[in-house]
Amino acid sequence: MATQKRVWLFRDGNRSLRDLLGGKGANLAEMMNIGLPVPPGFTITTEVCTDYYASGRQLPEGLTDEIKTALADVEKELGKTFGDPNNPLLLSVRSGAKFSMPGMMDTVLNLGLNDEIVNALSQVADPRFVYDSYRRFIMMLSDVAYSDQYDHITKHDFEHMFYDLKRELGVTEDLEVPADSLKALCDSYKAHVIKQTGKEFPQNPFEQLEAAITAVFRSWNNERAIIYRRKEKIDDAIGTAVNVQAMVFGNRGDDCGTGVAFTRNASTGENVIFGEYLMNAQGEDVVAGVRTPMPISELAKQDPVIYKQFEETCAVLEKHYKDMQDIEFTIEHGKFFILQCRSGKRTGPAAVRIAVDQVKEGLITKEDAIARVDPNLLTQCLLPVIPANAKYNVIARGLPAGPGAATGVAVFSSDKAAELGKGGAGERVILVRADTNPDDLKGMLAAQGVLTERGGMTSHAALVARGFGIPTVAGCSEISVGSDHFVIKATGQVVKEGEYISLNGGLGEVISGQVPVEEAKMTGDFGEFMAWADEFRGKFGVRTNADTPKDTELAIKLGAEGIGLCRTEHMFFEGERRPVVQRMILATNDADRQVALDELLEFQREDFKGIFEALGGRPCTVRLIDPPLHEFMPNREKLIEEVAALHAVGKSDPEKEAMLKVVEGMHEINPMMGLRGCRLSIVFPQIVEMQTRAILEGASAVVKAGGQAVPEIMIPLVGHVNELKFVRERLEATAAAVVAEQGVSVDYSFGTMIEVPRGALTADEIAVEASFFSFGTNDLTQMTFGFSRDDSDRFLKPYVAEKILPGDPFESIDQSGVGQLMKIAIEKAHTVRPDIKLGICGEHGGEPSSVKFCYDIGLNYVSCSPYRVPIARLAAAQAALGKGVSDK
Ligand code: ADP
Ligand code: MG
Ligand code: MG
Repeated sequence: MATQKRVWLFRDGNRSLRDLLGGKGANLAEMMNIGLPVPPGFTITTEVCTDYYASGRQLPEGLTDEIKTALADVEKELGKTFGDPNNPLLLSVRSGAKFSMPGMMDTVLNLGLNDEIVNALSQVADPRFVYDSYRRFIMMLSDVAYSDQYDHITKHDFEHMFYDLKRELGVTEDLEVPADSLKALCDSYKAHVIKQTGKEFPQNPFEQLEAAITAVFRSWNNERAIIYRRKEKIDDAIGTAVNVQAMVFGNRGDDCGTGVAFTRNASTGENVIFGEYLMNAQGEDVVAGVRTPMPISELAKQDPVIYKQFEETCAVLEKHYKDMQDIEFTIEHGKFFILQCRSGKRTGPAAVRIAVDQVKEGLITKEDAIARVDPNLLTQCLLPVIPANAKYNVIARGLPAGPGAATGVAVFSSDKAAELGKGGAGERVILVRADTNPDDLKGMLAAQGVLTERGGMTSHAALVARGFGIPTVAGCSEISVGSDHFVIKATGQVVKEGEYISLNGGLGEVISGQVPVEEAKMTGDFGEFMAWADEFRGKFGVRTNADTPKDTELAIKLGAEGIGLCRTEHMFFEGERRPVVQRMILATNDADRQVALDELLEFQREDFKGIFEALGGRPCTVRLIDPPLHEFMPNREKLIEEVAALHAVGKSDPEKEAMLKVVEGMHEINPMMGLRGCRLSIVFPQIVEMQTRAILEGASAVVKAGGQAVPEIMIPLVGHVNELKFVRERLEATAAAVVAEQGVSVDYSFGTMIEVPRGALTADEIAVEASFFSFGTNDLTQMTFGFSRDDSDRFLKPYVAEKILPGDPFESIDQSGVGQLMKIAIEKAHTVRPDIKLGICGEHGGEPSSVKFCYDIGLNYVSCSPYRVPIARLAAAQAALGKGVSDK
């Protein structure tokens, strides 16, 4: 319930009142109070909006009186009266929530005009201006206030009538339409309103005002506003304020105009004002694109006096807000007015450059700079980009799963991508799939970019894309993918194999044809900025998830301080190894199995040696084999089909049938809860003995060559301390044997993953056996919720839409559930091992709000895919400073 003042004059507000006055209202008040030329007005608070909805869409009692009092103040200041035909005050009625939602809600300009006033005004002012303002007003108020009840009074319908008029007159530009034609247009508009609604267009200015105010409140819940809030994670309950402001007129002649500007370049960050404007126009014309605006640099030539005022205002605003501002302004008869300012949205490279420049200019501190940049924006600093001024045609949109830009010909299978792309014929290809599975990896790696119809931000395609820095648009439900083409559902447009398409992964855009792509430059600013982040991050570590020397080197370049998760099974999948792995699995006795294992040992030792070398003495957490063994075997369904096909023609293949028998034997109903993780180490101890040997022999080789290696051997999926005890005893025996054989000392340790809820709950027992914990939050989330991550797409989307969950728990840690298990585990572990090393290696380790959570609960480090390392470094610095960008 609103208990305080519901209507605030601009001069009574300030920028700290964003919750109450909305961003636009708070900033209008602030600008007025620092002496900038803001037309006077008042703000009706966001609480009135909440009240309006709480009381079944009624304006609260007494509000009208408060509005009238505020209005009287504005009238007095300007010497004009609302509704007075001889000297009318005209108003704009503008939405404005706490968080900017550009263009999502409604605005009405020129409010207060009616037939009588228009008649009187046209005697004393330029009639063209008067009727231009009236036609805009009739259109806007009808659209905003009545189009949700009646079908044909949207802006679009009125624009259509205006368009027909221009065609009749044989002109193309609005400005070529003379006063009497605009007057006739106003009459047609009013007639149209009567025809469509059965009611006259309201002539009473107070009735108009109330209609506009309630329409703005209603626009809080229009479809596009709701969708926007969902996307930006803005709370639906906060409501919008309404700003009622005296009009200033940019459409009053050739010495009038309106425009939009950024105080610095929002794409590059360059310290040059960037903007566009139109002479003899009102605000809508610039954004709606009815006329092509001019670059702001023209204004300097056209009207140096006004330009100087504009420039000075930009300087005052930056100094005051200490950030790049996005502003809206209007010029009336050579006088400059500012109508809006807010922190300007910017690209990653621009965000970094502006922050660094502003520190150097003495405008902000390094802490401010670090707190201000959204960590997620940093990926944009690392990938190829579409140059800032490029024009392109977006044909569909999906999720921005892997950032960066890519151009290539569309191909529809991984084999084709591998054949034509990187490592094959060397052409540029974009892999287009309905969805992707692990077998698509080779195709993805050969492609410039990946486009999928299904799958979310944590889908396989997205994970791989982020891990490898592949520009990817996932979950693009606007297309339908066939075997050699895809269709844009809305338009029926078909894109066939071999046609060029482009992706803008950072924005989720699918583009027809080729776009120019340039390598992102690792600018000096970026390096300097990250060094500041590291200063504030202090001892809190950032490691990477990497399985190859190449990835390791990349991650170190991006600032990784070690490996937090080295998955060994990826090493088993590669070409020549898979048959050996299969022989090991198929072995019917220990001796045969050992032969295969000895072969694998050779491979793995080299793998680890390469990784330890790349790490240069940094620590490496190696996870022992984790996935169910059938993942290494031929596909069961496919085998069944092949065997059946042979039988059908009276043939048979004994080898295939034997294989099928084994695969049948290994088949599990719930493989993710089956024979995997440490359970494998218990059933097949030789596998992990081999792995331990490979790790320590690889490490010894590095040490012998004068290097350093710090292996941390990690046992996955432990739920009971006895599992860990069993495995550890065997592994330590192996480790001791290797050390004795090699005769060098390697600084190794044993620890475990905490990814089974029981493991977290009994962490005090487990910590006795483990010198470190790494939270495997992918599995922990899966098992805590009982959600299968790979199948969760179908219910998580509706869950989030219905607000059953605030977001996808596989993206951002579920702090109250999964996070509580983590806290319990930490607390319990500390009772028996106060110095236990704690980290996280789930995908969450590179997600800013999860990084903050990990910092706050006392982990020692996070680990994430290489391209997310800078994000985690910045998120950790923000956590250490206790301030970041997201306060939604
Ligand atoms: P949005 O939030 O969609 O940008 P605004 O409330 O900023 O909506 O209004 C849109 C445009 O209307 C502004 O850019 C400005 O040009 C114009 N406008 C708003 N208020 C006034 C005013 N008092 N005088 C003149 N033009 C205005
Ligand atoms: Mg605006
Ligand atoms: Mg796991």
